[in-house]
Amino acid sequence: MNAMQNAIAVQDRVKLLIQGEFVESKSQHWQDIINPATQQRLGSVPFASHEEVNAAIAAAKQAFSTWRDTPIQTRMRIMLKFQQLIREHSKEIAKVLTAEQGKTLADAEGDIQRGLEVVEHACSIGTLQMGEYIEGVARGVDCYTLQQPLGVCAGITPFNFPAMIPLWMFPMAIVCGNTFVLKPSEQDPLSTMMLVELAVQAGVPAGVLNVVHGGKDVVDLLCCHEDIKAISFVGSTAVGTHVYHLAGQHGKRVQAMMGAKNHAVVMPDANKEQSLNALVGAAFGAAGQRCMALSVAVMVGDSKHWIDALVEKSKGLSVNAGHEAATDVGPLISARAKARTEDLIASAVSEGASLLLDGRGVVVKGYEHGNFVGPTILSDVGTTMRIYREEVFGPVLAIICVDTLDEAIALVNANPFGNGVGLFTQSGATARTFQNRIDIGQVGINIPIPVPVPFFSFTGSRGSKLGDLGPYGKQAVQFYTQTKTITSRWFDEQPAQHKVNTTIHLD
Ligand code: NAD
Repeated sequence: MNAMQNAIAVQDRVKLLIQGEFVESKSQHWQDIINPATQQRLGSVPFASHEEVNAAIAAAKQAFSTWRDTPIQTRMRIMLKFQQLIREHSKEIAKVLTAEQGKTLADAEGDIQRGLEVVEHACSIGTLQMGEYIEGVARGVDCYTLQQPLGVCAGITPFNFPAMIPLWMFPMAIVCGNTFVLKPSEQDPLSTMMLVELAVQAGVPAGVLNVVHGGKDVVDLLCCHEDIKAISFVGSTAVGTHVYHLAGQHGKRVQAMMGAKNHAVVMPDANKEQSLNALVGAAFGAAGQRCMALSVAVMVGDSKHWIDALVEKSKGLSVNAGHEAATDVGPLISARAKARTEDLIASAVSEGASLLLDGRGVVVKGYEHGNFVGPTILSDVGTTMRIYREEVFGPVLAIICVDTLDEAIALVNANPFGNGVGLFTQSGATARTFQNRIDIGQVGINIPIPVPVPFFSFTGSRGSKLGDLGPYGKQAVQFYTQTKTITSRWFDEQPAQHKVNTTIHLD
């Protein structure tokens, strides 16, 4: 099929998906979707009413009764078709993603690609969802487990990966036999809706996948509704903590992947060029709006002498609209995010940090109203400063110099967040010590953004994650299923010695 012959319509008034139908919300509350490079309106998103959210949950509940018994090969084949459709339409979706989110076209394609890999992995569900079996735990007695779907699950997603993060959630949930209600980010739902449309085209039956839009009100209803069995959340620590507690109080299984403050620890024996290139790319790519962006460089020992070279490399990045060729750093998602980033830079200066590169006030020709902040580098940053304590989510790199690896590890482990960290070294022994002692979910060794591939699972520690099981990979299968243990006895014939047994032992 040719993507151009079968283009997906971009919704001007973004629809809800309920019971297999894309329907217009009757809500009076709508919000504009804004291109962050131009401030052009791209469409409007509704804040769904309680009635609409309840209808989506009811559709999912009804669909579960048949979907859970749909053969696993049928569910898997829908995923096979879905991955094919995403592949065919990825350039088309990337353009919309760049327009609504701001990241470069190449990075938008990367956003889709990382989500696509999860859909590909969902095609292996036949082996991923297998239970266990042991024969002969007593005379005529066998024991085995079933991994059964939970029922209706819900997903709440952030603005920064409108393709990848919804794809972390609903493909694994539904391929396991659950039905799903997705609540995308209200800031950039257009590309998410294109993926949802492809899921419907791939054959996801009516009611199995539903979409509602909105903010706190809709999220809180999902967290409290008695028919929702599990909530997957990705977003900030404040909101994720609220979701975890509210949904937990209502008896739901919850996974909350949250905010970050990712450090890069640079050892003096590291390869200088490769390490500095990695730091610059990971600090300023996607304008720092990745949960795995590097926001603190910890220069150990003599690597502090590389700071000038780091600043020079960063000056070379091109700040421009995401769809322009050769752009390295696009705009921030909103004028509010830009103002907050600039405010945090100012606070660092007033608290005593040295401003080595100032990205405030950058003017991009042709996009003068865009939410741009250029690469910004601060040194002499202290751990009590706001710029160090808070997640910036902008193109700002804070530098801290320490003398030893031990100091670097202690610094990283004392930060409230535990999402990602990178170590740059040429010593295997240093790397081994570091990976063992660091309290962070994703560790990169000479890799700046170590997002795990879908055969593994995304994780996190401390302020970056609540809940035991992470999204995608084998942990997602455990999260979206309930283990049932069956112990069964079948006699070929009645044993001669069979009598009443009042103990807990199996004989
Ligand atoms: P956010 O927390 O503002 O929003 C996330 C979702 O929660 C959205 O769907 C939003 O509508 C909803 N929401 C917002 N306020 C709410 C409230 N008061 N009550 C209930 N729901 C609410 O996050 P964001 O700004 O969209 O995304 C950026 C954040 O996400 C950053 O903190 C980033 O680190 C984090 N993130 C984490 C990961 C991870 O895997 N750890 C991945 C991507 C992004």
